[in-house]
Amino acid sequence: MKPSKSISQKTDTNGKAVAKKPVKSKLIKKLDVVFSEYIRKRNSVNGKACCVTCGKVDEWKKMQAGHFMSRTKYATRWDEENVQVQCVKCNRFSQGEQYLFSLYLGADKAKQLYEKSLTSWSQSIEQLQKTIEHYVSLNKKME
Ligand SMILES: [Zn+2]
Repeated sequence: MKPSKSISQKTDTNGKAVAKKPVKSKLIKKLDVVFSEYIRKRNSVNGKACCVTCGKVDEWKKMQAGHFMSRTKYATRWDEENVQVQCVKCNRFSQGEQYLFSLYLGADKAKQLYEKSLTSWSQSIEQLQKTIEHYVSLNKKME
């Protein structure tokens, strides 16, 4: 059973409930989820999406959002070109098939993304929340 909200809720000195400030790591996880959904829906036709590195077609829910530059690089973690539909085999078990991924993107785009991935990244809580809202609404439109 989940603990009751009233127990964990923080209060200020006047005993008023204080809205918990969202933690950045939680927002990053949330953004990963909504962004992945966006990429797979964006690339799907009649509910099916195609893996960019092997051509496998399956329901978008069974596919994954694969990163060309690793998701450890925050500057390109939510770049709409850096992230494309991949099947589980390519994304998870073949280390993302980065060479084939670069062929899909083309040399110029691959180089651009490589360079962008090396730049620094910083987003405030508010910016992250806005980005999440942006993709949540795009996802709703594609339903
Ligand atoms: Zn594949």
